[in-house]
Amino acid sequence: MSNNIKIEVAEKAGFCFGVERAVGLVEETLKNSKKPVYCWGDLIHNPLAMNRLEKKGLRIIKNLEDLAEGAVFIVKSHGMALEDLDSVKQKTTEIVDTTCPFVVKAQYYAKEFKKRGLKVIIIGDREHVEVKGIKSRANNNAFVANNLAELKKIKDKLTGKIGVICQTTQKSSKLREIVEGLKELGLELEIKNTICLNTIEKQQEVSEISAETDLLIVIGGLHSSNTTKLAEMGRAKKIKTYHVENADDILQEWFSDGMNVFLTAGASTPSDEITKAKEIIEKFNFK
Ligand code: SF4
Repeated sequence: MSNNIKIEVAEKAGFCFGVERAVGLVEETLKNSKKPVYCWGDLIHNPLAMNRLEKKGLRIIKNLEDLAEGAVFIVKSHGMALEDLDSVKQKTTEIVDTTCPFVVKAQYYAKEFKKRGLKVIIIGDREHVEVKGIKSRANNNAFVANNLAELKKIKDKLTGKIGVICQTTQKSSKLREIVEGLKELGLELEIKNTICLNTIEKQQEVSEISAETDLLIVIGGLHSSNTTKLAEMGRAKKIKTYHVENADDILQEWFSDGMNVFLTAGASTPSDEITKAKEIIEKFNFK
């Protein structure tokens, strides 16, 4: 018997085009290759999806030194730094590049800005593999910042024309705020909004959640950049928000009868996990 909880599932919840493409390419490679297939870290930030790929034979390595000679190497959807790719090429020429076209675009602008002699600012998480990959295309000569305050501290170095690029999974509001702040500093900017379409659409859905929403559930890897941002947006809107990795992590104690719940999921969350989450919530029983 179902309860009176009203659940709205975000239209754009779950796998994005880039992740779907990467998983498809890896599955095809696993099926056709006679050689072992390696990925440096998780292909996508979702333990469930990763388990499925590992069962099909994907080998995950933490260090590039562990890559076997002549094996197949997968470049992940968010890319990698050129210097790391060079060390892969020392061991194998069998490389399957699943870099998402949105990430390729950000890498392209980094290279192009440098070629034209611009200084480069990358808005994003310094330690994220995507940001390292973009930075390497700018000859590793770029300022990486996560907020305006960090850039204000190095204001004296920000002279001449500056190209601004953004990690694909950042919040549009953050990019806007930083760009406004940089303009106020009087800097000469060329801005490329490289936030990917799927990220923008997912965030748009959360920003438009109705005022009647009591609870936001975000499903996806706890280390997934795009998923974490969705949960941050919910909290910023003062909506009670839970970010869970799997549908099974959802607890009945968060809910009460008659609640309005909005359910969304990061770009690496398989659709059956979203369906499962909905079914779990529908089965909660309130006395
Ligand atoms: S989140 Fe965006 S950039 Fe990342 S893989 Fe998906 S579509 Fe590509």
